[in-house]
Amino acid sequence: MSGAKLGNLPKIKLAHFPTPVQYLENLTKKYEGPSIYMKRDDLTSLGMGGNKTRKLEYLIGQALEQGADTLVTAGGIQSNHCRLTAAAAKVAGLSCELVLNGTPPEIFNGNLLLDKLYDANITFCEREKRDQTLEETGKELTSQGRKPYVIPVGGSTGIGAQGYVNAMIELKSQIPEMGKEPDYVVFATSSGGTQAGLALGARLTGFKGKILGMSIDQTKTGTEPFPPILKKIANEAAHIIDTDIRFKEKDFLLNCDYLGAGYAVPGDLEFNAIKDLARLEGILLGPVYTARAMGGMLDLIQKGFFKKQDTLLFWHTGGTPELFAYADQISY
Ligand SMILES: *Cc1c(COP(=O)(O)O)cnc(C)c1O
Repeated sequence: MSGAKLGNLPKIKLAHFPTPVQYLENLTKKYEGPSIYMKRDDLTSLGMGGNKTRKLEYLIGQALEQGADTLVTAGGIQSNHCRLTAAAAKVAGLSCELVLNGTPPEIFNGNLLLDKLYDANITFCEREKRDQTLEETGKELTSQGRKPYVIPVGGSTGIGAQGYVNAMIELKSQIPEMGKEPDYVVFATSSGGTQAGLALGARLTGFKGKILGMSIDQTKTGTEPFPPILKKIANEAAHIIDTDIRFKEKDFLLNCDYLGAGYAVPGDLEFNAIKDLARLEGILLGPVYTARAMGGMLDLIQKGFFKKQDTLLFWHTGGTPELFAYADQISY
């Protein structure tokens, strides 16, 4: 079966698609390796852009169908997902409650500044209490007679992942203009919805290239290994759109070699990638996600992981506002 139900899922319009695909000539020349293209999901037009916009189109579609009046979600203090949820809530005429882990700074900057500009109500908590606080916030609103729609961290549900199933269909339509199907699609992966959606979209459309997630903070083993999470989201997404496609853990290609000093702690790898992209292409990366994934990809190029005749498509997932929250760490 073909996943024909995707077109019937409730959805709202939050941005203008397709986002551009662009050849990065100067970056390709500098690294003397495979041809590097970029899919510009940093240019999804809502609120400074990013990958959560595509997920929120479907998540808010479902929220409105269920009669919700408030979006509730959670993330780190510089969460792009929370910023875009706050922006999208305004477009959809909904209220927004955010649970952010971290200590509020004296001056709100980056995504946090935008959260307030979008009039979100914020509860700060410790990282360990985040999931619990998110759940409690939902219950509290219900007890007040409100109708919350609770979105898990990153919006990575079977519904949210449909945004990237659809994005893969969009990319397929842009391949003639690229002239060649990419051998690899490379992107930052963290809560899994983007990777699960792209992997499902690739299977649905017969896309032959490899879907390579560059982990920002997830690991293959340990107490919460990532492959079972990817499998769960992808299979849930497949079920929702009535396709027979199912995934095994080994179907997901994942690199976990660039975790640095941890989530949201960028170092030389990230800052060098930021400078490269700014100074060669005029393109901005965020220190938390896209700079880590790009830095990892450039390192893999230098190590000879890809063939010179390969075509790479780096999927820019956004996060540009993070940059301003790290101003004191960037040297020039
Ligand atoms: C959330 C986010 C990601 C990771 O996407 P997931 O679907 O959570 O894996 C990548 N890049 C940016 C900029 C993000 O905000």
